[in-house]
Amino acid sequence: MSSISGERTGAAPPTGGYPAIRMLIGGEWIDAPGAPVIDPATGASIGTVPCATSAHLESAAAAAARGFAIWRRVAPAERARIMLRAVQLVRERVDAIARDITLEQGKPLAQSRAEVLRGCDLIEWDATEARRLYGRVIPAEPGMRHTVLREPVGVVAAFTPWNFPMSSPARKIGGALAAGCAIILKASEETPAGAMHLAQAFCDAGLPAGALNLVFGDPAAISGFLIPHPVVSLVTFTGSTAVGKQLAGLAGTHMKPVIMELGGHAPVIVCDDADAQVAAAAGVKAKLNNGGQVCVAPTRFIVHKAVYDDFVQAYMHIGRAVRQGSGLDPDSDIGPVANSRRLQGLQRLTEDALRRGARLLCGGAPTPGPGFHFPFTVLADVPTDALAMREEPFGPLSLITRVDGLDDAIALANSLPYGLAGYAFTGSARNARVLSDELEVGNLAINHFVSAVSETPFGGVKDSGYGREGGTEGLECYTHAKSISHLTV
Ligand code: NAD
Repeated sequence: MSSISGERTGAAPPTGGYPAIRMLIGGEWIDAPGAPVIDPATGASIGTVPCATSAHLESAAAAAARGFAIWRRVAPAERARIMLRAVQLVRERVDAIARDITLEQGKPLAQSRAEVLRGCDLIEWDATEARRLYGRVIPAEPGMRHTVLREPVGVVAAFTPWNFPMSSPARKIGGALAAGCAIILKASEETPAGAMHLAQAFCDAGLPAGALNLVFGDPAAISGFLIPHPVVSLVTFTGSTAVGKQLAGLAGTHMKPVIMELGGHAPVIVCDDADAQVAAAAGVKAKLNNGGQVCVAPTRFIVHKAVYDDFVQAYMHIGRAVRQGSGLDPDSDIGPVANSRRLQGLQRLTEDALRRGARLLCGGAPTPGPGFHFPFTVLADVPTDALAMREEPFGPLSLITRVDGLDDAIALANSLPYGLAGYAFTGSARNARVLSDELEVGNLAINHFVSAVSETPFGGVKDSGYGREGGTEGLECYTHAKSISHLTV
């Protein structure tokens, strides 16, 4: 397979400019006219992302069908070997990839690096788990044998967002390839380099042509083409609930199963017995991740009145020390937000909350100058009718609100249509059990902020979607169960 560009491959050192972005179709790197890629720290164009035509998409579908025919028959141990080789290459290239992610997405370099390594971890787990995609033998009467096989579902059409240019594609590529599927990935046009580097590593690791295809372009045109396409057997999307509902509807019309990782508005319940300082320090640290542009970002801090003032003081104190700037500056704790949509959205939600009586503790308005910079912003005493308490801020905006007891906290946490991640801080086994039983979320973390690791399933309930990524549950989403009933003659 050819390399991404003559001027720069994934193995290039972390110097020089942003790479030339290409699509990968049937093992060939393809260029095409497209749109600019913007550095959110400056607002300047740093490159161009190609835009797929219908002919490109038809080629990708045909290539994926050929790739699937080959890849599904590759032994799981060999699949794992190729995938682990790709992971090794990405790890060797981490500094160059991280720099490109910071340029296109804005997050601090250390976070980009951590994201790349996390993507490696996700693929590594899927690769090794591929060897354990066991079926079942079900006890039956003499002469009869019922077996269940886990078969790859086929060609996957995958759509990933701009906030995690590497780890979101890694989740989908890892799950699909481990299960024996082929995949056509439409990664984000705003942050295309992460997915391209990942695809390059798979090419270099010896993945058969067509098993992984990467396209960019008009998101609606591509989903409108690929989802109904007869070659595609499964749709997986990470992004907003509004778009997820559209795509799930289209997939339903064509009887295609879907995995939907959609929006969230994570509650953080701080109980009366919690250490408010510890919870506040951990909360700010978690909110720094990707500048809050994460579907599992802690957002609604629902704090018991007994520890409310301590929590607010501690959160404000630590939050005021957060440094916002270019992701290339090692002193920045958070980078710019990814685009002007986020800047406008954060400003609108902050102004609305202040109008309704919230108290501004730090930040509050976009930083003047080029790029899309919004400071770490903390609001206390946020009334429940503030728009930000219902709409996902998807940025560095923390909302703190007071409650009288655990039941009120749970009711408030569950009051939204979202149900992705939830967090709680308590030293009480009873509180932990009640929270575990009553919170309407797909992932709950108690006394910390890591909502999912490679080994555990990640996904939502309610408007946050369905299907899982990660864990055995995630891998099984890329398979179907074939039941074979055999009467021995
Ligand atoms: P958006 O709704 O415009 O787009 C969300 C994502 O969907 C983008 O990656 C976009 O390219 C893609 N998309 C849009 N229309 C599409 C279509 N018809 N077919 C296929 N893909 C399509 O929102 P946005 O302004 O880019 O992001 C803001 C919101 O998106 C956030 O508030 C958040 O809810 C959500 N989001 C969620 C995640 C997540 O991890 N679940 C990631 C990114 C964005």
